[in-house]
Amino acid sequence: MGLEEEVGEVDEEALRKEHDRDNSQEEKTDEGVRTYTFQKGITQIRILPQKKSATKKPWFKTVYEHYIAVNGKNRQTYCPSTWDEECPICEEGKNLYQSQEPENLEKSKELRPGRKFIANVLVLSDPGEKTSAKDGVQVLKMGVTVKKALLNLDRDFTGGWGNITDLKEGNDIRITRSGDTMQTTSYGCVGVPKQTNILETLNAQGVDPGTLTVYDLDDVLRKPEHDRLVAMLKDDFVPHFPSAAPTEVPDIPEEDDSQVHVDSQNTDVPSGLE
Ligand SMILES: [Zn+2]
Repeated sequence: MGLEEEVGEVDEEALRKEHDRDNSQEEKTDEGVRTYTFQKGITQIRILPQKKSATKKPWFKTVYEHYIAVNGKNRQTYCPSTWDEECPICEEGKNLYQSQEPENLEKSKELRPGRKFIANVLVLSDPGEKTSAKDGVQVLKMGVTVKKALLNLDRDFTGGWGNITDLKEGNDIRITRSGDTMQTTSYGCVGVPKQTNILETLNAQGVDPGTLTVYDLDDVLRKPEHDRLVAMLKDDFVPHFPSAAPTEVPDIPEEDDSQVHVDSQNTDVPSGLE
């Protein structure tokens, strides 16, 4: 038997389906849709308004997450308080805090959830050109200070900004992430002064705005199961491949607010740009 006799017919339908799935905007992890975070370098984005719904909402949503050591590895999980529900990790933290033992106080700090924000964004360019508008709307996850800088621009009507998410008269934003370690990582957040129509920008980049959808931020992340959080707390958490593994996070947090410097009102191009 030779090669030609050995090989079978290709299932075109199965390949097409898998290809669609690979390229779907709905790519999900255990924690919901995969979020976009800033890489080292300069990222130009356009924040989008919230998805249309019965009740008015801001263009961002507050989420809480824990970073805790499980079997010696730093793991991330969303905190159920994001969904206004009780969290075993937060509970344990409070119990430890109330005991007032110095060792417990230290541990309780580690169990405290961090506050993050998510928003619908289009990535217009990013370091290494990994993501572009052609990849569709992304769910950006950002820290307190970047969100604060964005909201400052969004509300700064007297300064000539305001409503940065407006589709037709909004502003692109340039985020500069620098530094490699927790101590040196900082973010610059600079609005592009010229107001632009994002629909025109998309068309110019060969992206049909009619094909894009925005996410419902209330529905985009998945609430972790109570039992899984309890298991993580016990430090004996073993991920059940592939469905229940929490996201492993790198040593460098995407944003450490105690160290972050944000220069929100500086419209000059930061030094170091080519
Ligand atoms: Zn919690």
